[in-house]
Amino acid sequence: MIRRFLARLIPGRPAPSPRLFGPDAHPVRRSQLSRAAIDVTRKLQQAGFKAFIVGGAVRDLLLGITPKDFDIATDATPEQIKPLFRRAFIIGRRFRLVHVLAGPETVEVSTFRGKQVGDDTADEHGRLLSDNVFGVQAEDAVRRDFTINALYFDPATESVWDYVGGVADVKAKKLRLIGDPVTRFREDPVRMLRAVRLAAKLGIDIEKKTAAPIPRLAPLIHNLPPARVFDEMEKLLLSGHAVESLKSLRRHGLHHGVLPLLDVILEQPLGPRFIELALASTDERVRTGKPVTSAFLFATLLWHEVLASWNAAKAKGERPMPALFAAMDAVLAQQAERLAIPRRFEATIKETWALQPRFEQRAGQRPFRLLEHPRFRAGYDFLWLRGHSGEIPVELADWWERFQRADSDERERMLRPDEAPKKHRRSRGRGRKRKAAPADVPGPPAPSEH
Ligand code: ATP
Ligand code: MG
Repeated sequence: MIRRFLARLIPGRPAPSPRLFGPDAHPVRRSQLSRAAIDVTRKLQQAGFKAFIVGGAVRDLLLGITPKDFDIATDATPEQIKPLFRRAFIIGRRFRLVHVLAGPETVEVSTFRGKQVGDDTADEHGRLLSDNVFGVQAEDAVRRDFTINALYFDPATESVWDYVGGVADVKAKKLRLIGDPVTRFREDPVRMLRAVRLAAKLGIDIEKKTAAPIPRLAPLIHNLPPARVFDEMEKLLLSGHAVESLKSLRRHGLHHGVLPLLDVILEQPLGPRFIELALASTDERVRTGKPVTSAFLFATLLWHEVLASWNAAKAKGERPMPALFAAMDAVLAQQAERLAIPRRFEATIKETWALQPRFEQRAGQRPFRLLEHPRFRAGYDFLWLRGHSGEIPVELADWWERFQRADSDERERMLRPDEAPKKHRRSRGRGRKRKAAPADVPGPPAPSEH
């Protein structure tokens, strides 16, 4: 049975057997794993199954990076895994795996995958359409993407199992696709985006043979379901290495079609500065453990498109606010065709944009009302980027920076003479009576805590 599996793996060649690296040969220790990861692997092993920590976590630990989460691979089927745990759920219809809930943690447990068989498993470009055939560990290793992502750590013995030379590549700091790069990129073009993201995140190089076919195969990204491209781009943008990743996407000819408007954005005079600033401050937040949101980031990526069409409409004499709303809708609709920004982000994106004209009003009650708006912080961070990228006078962003921090007397002094049309003019006295907002608001360039 096992032989048959292995024979299918690489026809005519012996199945790879793993090289084992004991605890003396690598730095990873059981104590670096989460409680749940240790418990789940132990339970599976006690029930007579193989169980390993696999993938990104092993790679990160070998490179001295703290893993985000721990995935487990086993030879037990989902039906065999589930009854071993009190809270476990089989998820996914096509790619079935088990989520085991242990305290606050969810551990993903997947059964070793094998090679797909049959003619209808790939599309006309070679893209694999399913990945749901169970197999043995050696097959599971070679269907993974990069050698450094195909390492298995056994917590019981603290040994690393390596079928593909991943340990050597970790040492050499090389990101290398398993197998023939062209075939593997055709099977799943997302791997091109993963290569760029992982190399930037890990600070390693994409090995030459792996990198070589990327520019030629880049158009295959268009055949992917937009939601998958979105998920991967979101990971890339929120990785803490977005600036570097986007530069690398360009270098590898991958930016066309990934974020359809990115080319346009980067070609606009102020676009690059604005976006680089936005990405750099997001990277900074991620690296210092501060929260970031996708909605804010996508609002920045698309802003210059909105601005261009808003300005064009205003130049034709349209009223500013309706023109802004029309521009927002048009840009989001255009983007939806390719990148599929999920609907749930749209409200926040629009709100951040729609707040922008309100920052120009610095007289009467309006600044106080804006300060109390639930999305003030996002709006202000966005304004800061606009100021510091040269789109609007930086003085306006600075004014709001000071206004937030000021006490109520100072705020009153900062207000501009009321420029509102007479019929809307409000008494300045109301402003004096209002309670001071807390003065301990956080400092300036901190986009995305929204
Ligand atoms: P990250 O640190 O971003 O989570 P990761 O490598 O853990 O990186 P995941 O998306 O969590 O990325 O994938 C877990 C593992 O699944 C990978 O390490 C790799 O072994 C395998 N894998 C993920 N995506 C692919 C793919 N497109 N093709 C082949 N194997 C993949
Ligand atoms: Mg992972």
